[in-house]
Amino acid sequence: MAVKKDYYEILGVPRDATQEEIKRAYRRLAKKYHPDVTKDPESAQKFKEIAEAYEVLSDPEKRAQYDRFGHVGPEQGFDFDIRDFRRARETFEEFFGGGWEDLFDLFFGEGVRTRTRARPRTRARRGEDLEYKLRLTLEDAAQGTRVKVTVPRYVICDRCGGTGREPGTGVRACPLCGGTGQVEHRQRTLLGTFVNVQTCGRCEGTGELIEEPCRKCGGKSRVWEESRISIKVPPGVDTGSRLKLTGEGNAGLFGGPPGDLYIVVEIAPHEVFTRKGDDLYCEVPITFPQAALGATVKVPTLFGEEELTIPPGTQSGETFVLRGKGIPHLRGRGRGDQYVTVKVVTPKRLSRRVRQLLEQLDRELAPELEGGS
Ligand SMILES: [Zn+2]
Ligand SMILES: [Zn+2]
Repeated sequence: MAVKKDYYEILGVPRDATQEEIKRAYRRLAKKYHPDVTKDPESAQKFKEIAEAYEVLSDPEKRAQYDRFGHVGPEQGFDFDIRDFRRARETFEEFFGGGWEDLFDLFFGEGVRTRTRARPRTRARRGEDLEYKLRLTLEDAAQGTRVKVTVPRYVICDRCGGTGREPGTGVRACPLCGGTGQVEHRQRTLLGTFVNVQTCGRCEGTGELIEEPCRKCGGKSRVWEESRISIKVPPGVDTGSRLKLTGEGNAGLFGGPPGDLYIVVEIAPHEVFTRKGDDLYCEVPITFPQAALGATVKVPTLFGEEELTIPPGTQSGETFVLRGKGIPHLRGRGRGDQYVTVKVVTPKRLSRRVRQLLEQLDRELAPELEGGS
């Protein structure tokens, strides 16, 4: 290895130069020795030296070590790491407004770039997720159900099996990108050669062209159909519940995995019950004598009729609970409750007999109510 030149000499600054002076010298030299500007075959080498010197002298710690031990410190050498140009790069780009990468291309050929270049893309894409609104009755939600629905979606083309190629035909390399899937646009400017790598538009980055598209799907690899899908709905679902059917969404493109199907539940309003969480609410009409004397009445539930005992002296609007007669919890065991509000119904049409009885009752009750108020 040749004897290294002194970093201060390279930058042309005194040993006690300030950081600002070092920075200024670097900028001046970087501009002067930029290979694109000078066309001097040695300028690339010179620029490397300049960058290396700046790398060390712009870092107070490295600079101190360099001042004490020279090019190779006793504990750790300053093996010049080409990937650790950060500071030099920042200053360079601040000054030239970019172009550092292209400089690397000039120094090291394609070496740096080829490693990062992507392989041709695959055409395979995951299918889209789908959403399907499923309207259910409250009874279905309480008991769980199995329904068959028609879901319009993409499925794999059965003619080509998802390849998009007419059976018996193959693919050929894309002539535009030569099978790489990428096209390069090189642009030489004063600041360097800018290499702009773009996805090939002809083959969409896959590097290959289908010889003959499938006649059924037109080369798209999937076809539209109305699929009949059986859905198992667990007990306890509510409006807004989402059931995920893995893999039942749109088929993937060109062999990609399918998307998922989300069933979004909507529960239709019920004639009798109102739902709040997993609890149900309903009203039950009772007669005045039932309220006054107490009674056992039949109450509808989602799981059949139940008997509810009303104590004597029940007021209209009083609420009773039927434990465990609500909706099953979707997660976990058990069920909600059913709240029954009794409503004393005043008869609108009276038979002669009922009228007589009520008048008699009124004579008995009216003074009592007046006394109480
Ligand atoms: Zn096809
Ligand atoms: Zn191409």
